[in-house]
Amino acid sequence: MKIVDVETVILRLPTVLPNGDGIQDLLLIKVHTDVGIIGIGEAHTMPTVLKAIIDAPVSQLAAQGLKHLVVGEDPLRIQYLWNKMYAHTLVAGRRGAVINAISGIDIALWDIFGKATGQPVHQLLGGALRQNVAAYASDLMGSSMDEVVRKANQFARDGFRAIKFGWGTLGTQVSRDIEMVRELRAALGPEVDIMLDIGTPIPLHNATMLAKELSAYDVFFLEEPLSPDDLAGYAELVKISPTPIAAGEKETTRFGFQELIERGCLRIIQPDIARAGGITEVRRIAAMAEAKGVRLIPHSWASDILLSATLHLMATVQNAEYVEFNVMDNPLRTKLLNRPIRVEGGYLQVSDEPGLGIELNEETVARYTLRTD
Ligand code: MG
Repeated sequence: MKIVDVETVILRLPTVLPNGDGIQDLLLIKVHTDVGIIGIGEAHTMPTVLKAIIDAPVSQLAAQGLKHLVVGEDPLRIQYLWNKMYAHTLVAGRRGAVINAISGIDIALWDIFGKATGQPVHQLLGGALRQNVAAYASDLMGSSMDEVVRKANQFARDGFRAIKFGWGTLGTQVSRDIEMVRELRAALGPEVDIMLDIGTPIPLHNATMLAKELSAYDVFFLEEPLSPDDLAGYAELVKISPTPIAAGEKETTRFGFQELIERGCLRIIQPDIARAGGITEVRRIAAMAEAKGVRLIPHSWASDILLSATLHLMATVQNAEYVEFNVMDNPLRTKLLNRPIRVEGGYLQVSDEPGLGIELNEETVARYTLRTD
């Protein structure tokens, strides 16, 4: 079997706003083979840039377009192809957008491996330790306290045992954030885990104050209060914070996560499979985290393609406390597959179908495809 093409399709909502919603657009990747099997992947973010990274011609030995590197190769040599893409983009890549693009191709290669062998991806990763994974409801911060409490109550009624709000005005006024969590805890009772995602960096002093005050309400984790590059700040915060600190959705590769864990002292990491290097790389990151007693709670604020890849991996890792479930009402979230992934009783089922076990809804794909010609 050989790879004959890497097709890239930009999906984009008619209106895209500069807010914290990471699924207003995405890059859909279809890796075509000479036997007719097509692997499906998704890459984040800035799909126009990622498409260019895939389609680019050779520039020099260590700067080559990804399509050029994989066409003609055996798609089942996934590790070899990952290393080849990494090695031949060293000048432009190593982190960021190039790794995001590699991630999408890697996911598609695992889908091909599963379809070619009739096995679900979790089986190819060594076999599932569980059939389902608990989901946390992940939403953007509302415009008022009432809205946030009303939504949280609804998520709890829907069966979620953990709820996260993120971005928006969070972090701009520490006292208001604390008041919001106090109200959330009062509304939800002690059984539901509450998470807070600041998303945009705030001063270390404010983050420290927030982390200390939030511990009174048993917050499960405080996410990304600092710049992803402020590892010294994270190390200081983690040392004194009674609230667990989480980060990593903007990080890529095992090298980046090694830094987050060793220099940033983070004890909860959140790699995103469609950004950090695909299933191949996040599996390595998961092994590293496990060896160091670090908790892995992946970022998966994207389409059901990423969510399915995340579930297959999380089915096979030792500790799988939660997977992020984006609750936004958005057709790229809810209508991209013929059988969308749904939460039942707070849990997400891991598919036993070959590959990722997903089938694209071609009507949705056609409707939101951005014409680039
Ligand atoms: Mg986040």
